[in-house]
This record gives sequence, C-alpha cells and structure tokens, in this order.
Amino acid sequence: MAEFTIIEKYFTELGSDHKETLLSVGDDAAVVEVPEGFELAISVDTMTEGIHFMKGLSPELLAHKLLTVNLSDMAAMGAKPRWATLAMGLDAHDEEWLERFSTTLHKTAKAYGVQIIGGDTTEGPLVLTLTIMGLLPIGMRMTRCGAKVGDKVYCSGVVGDAGLALTKLLGEQALDDELFAQVLPALHMPAPQVTLGQRLLGQVNSCIDISDGLIGDCEHIANRSNVSINIELRNIPLSPAYRNYIEQGGFMRYAVAGGDDYQLLFTISEEKAAVLETISKDLDVSLTEIGSVVARDDELVRLFDDGKPTTMKLKSFQHFS
Ligand code: ADP
Ligand code: MG
Repeated sequence: MAEFTIIEKYFTELGSDHKETLLSVGDDAAVVEVPEGFELAISVDTMTEGIHFMKGLSPELLAHKLLTVNLSDMAAMGAKPRWATLAMGLDAHDEEWLERFSTTLHKTAKAYGVQIIGGDTTEGPLVLTLTIMGLLPIGMRMTRCGAKVGDKVYCSGVVGDAGLALTKLLGEQALDDELFAQVLPALHMPAPQVTLGQRLLGQVNSCIDISDGLIGDCEHIANRSNVSINIELRNIPLSPAYRNYIEQGGFMRYAVAGGDDYQLLFTISEEKAAVLETISKDLDVSLTEIGSVVARDDELVRLFDDGKPTTMKLKSFQHFS
C-alpha cells in the first residue's frame, strides 16, 4: 500500500475533534490555536521494537503504551493533553496490524481528549514517535526543579508491578501464574495520572512521572532542585500482589527501580499537604507519603529501612548504560 493510502485510510481522523484545531492531517503542517490564557507544553517519546517493546507485541498494547508514556509526561507537568503528531517507521504494511493499531490509538486518544493532527510515515524498522502537546494555564507548570527543604515526598498509586511482570517476560525470574496475572496489567495497560496532574497544579513544589524507576526519578528531582531526598522503603506503596511476593522472599528492587510505573512523584510543603486528602478522595487514587526533602549532601537520594539508613544499592534502568 502506498504511503498516502495508509495515511488516508488509517491515520486521518484519530482521537478527539477540537475547535481550536484549524488545520489537521492532509496539509504540509497542522495549525492550532492556543486558547487565551494558556500556553503549550510539548513532549516527545520514541518506542523502538526490540528496545522499548518486544517483537510481536500486539498493536493494541503498543498503541496504548505509546500514548501512555506521552500522556504521563503531560500529567507530570500538570498539562491538559490536547494534540499529538505521530511519526512511524513501518517494516511491513500489514493491513490488519494497521487497522488494529489505529483503532486503539483512536479510542485511547479520544478517551484522553487528544487529537492526532499530523505525522510522518516511512519505511524502516518499527519505530513509533509521538509528540504530544497540552495546555497549561499561563505561568503555571509543575517542574523537577522546585523541591524545597522540608517538603514531603509523595507517590501516587502503587509501584513495582510493571517491573515485576517484565522480569518474567524477559525470563529473569519465575513467577507463579496467579501473581503474573495480577501484575501484568500494570505493564501492558498502564493508566497515566492525567487528571491527578492537573489537580496538583498550583499545589506542589515539584513533580515528575515515574518512568525510569522511583529512585532514579527521585534523583532527577533532587538533582534539578539542588536538594537531597530521604525515602523510607517501608512506606513505598505496593499492590497486594507485590506485598505477597515480598512476603514469599521476593525483592524490593522492582518497586524502587523497576520503571514503567507511570505514577506521579511529587514534593509538597507540609502546610499544603492537607489538600491531598481531598484530591485523593475525589479521584479515588492513593497518595502516599514516602519521604522528605533535606539539604543537599553527597547523596542525591538516601534510603531508610524502618528509620535506619540502608546501604541497599540500586541502579534504575538507564539508556546507554
Ligand atoms: P509531507 O511530504 O508534506 O511531509 P506527508 O506525505 O509526509 O507530507 O504527510 C501528509 C499528511 O499526512 C501530513 O499532513 C502529515 O502530517 C500527515 N501524516 C503523515 N503520516 C501520518 C501519520 N502516521 N499519522 C498522522 N498523520 C500523518
Ligand atoms: Mg512527511
């Protein structure tokens, strides 16, 4: 199938339909109007077959993950996701694959209020690059660099399930079928905390989404904010399935350094932390205090086990390392 036929058939009207979109797929560029009082947050993520996902992953899971990783970046900024462009390297023009991929992309994008307004389609290895754009009220944004000494550190939802599921898929660890079934959805169908991000805007001092592992992402905040962070291992929120795994002699490392969690990690002043109870109730999402921000010293992040410093050394997943 020719490139333009693919675009016309599968990628022309995906996601929501916004009145601020003046020109969408079909011209040399898309044109959008940023509503008065808002500015744009822009982020891009690439997923390459064999590196970020395994060969043969279903097109539905792939489309879902591609949007999730990008939506999670919008969540971390407190932005309202609005538009996206999609650049694809396609190795085979399998119509069934294209149909399934674009259908899920459409449904998921629509569910989050995102319109796909353009892209690029080329032949090559399967590589998907999505650029996402979201709206932020002028002058408002959550960043990695605002953490203040005395802030409390919070984490949304639970962490570790996705990293744990991945170890089984990679053949690094045997997990019993029941446990695997319980943790697999976290890896395959992560739910980005988009609504939470918007609610935290104006309340927190710093925020990041947990994509590389909780400790690694804590380090990003500490580094950019020029502070250090103390984390209490026992307070890290785990699913019942992960707790079970720990009780049977499992490792904590996937919860602290597993990655792919797509939860939000943020720091907030003690005075403002009371607001979190309301937000947590309204959105039905748990928000757990896991540590505190202290003055910068020789370690960016220190781990404590029941109040005592632990020497546990963990390296989060990093590209090129
Ligand atoms: P050009 O040669 O001007 O770059 P293209 O032929 O690459 O134009 O693309 C034609 C139109 O289709 C453009 O509006 C582009 O944004 C859009 N487009 C191309 N590939 C995709 C895709 N995978 N998803 C969405 N829109 C796409
Ligand atoms: Mg092009």
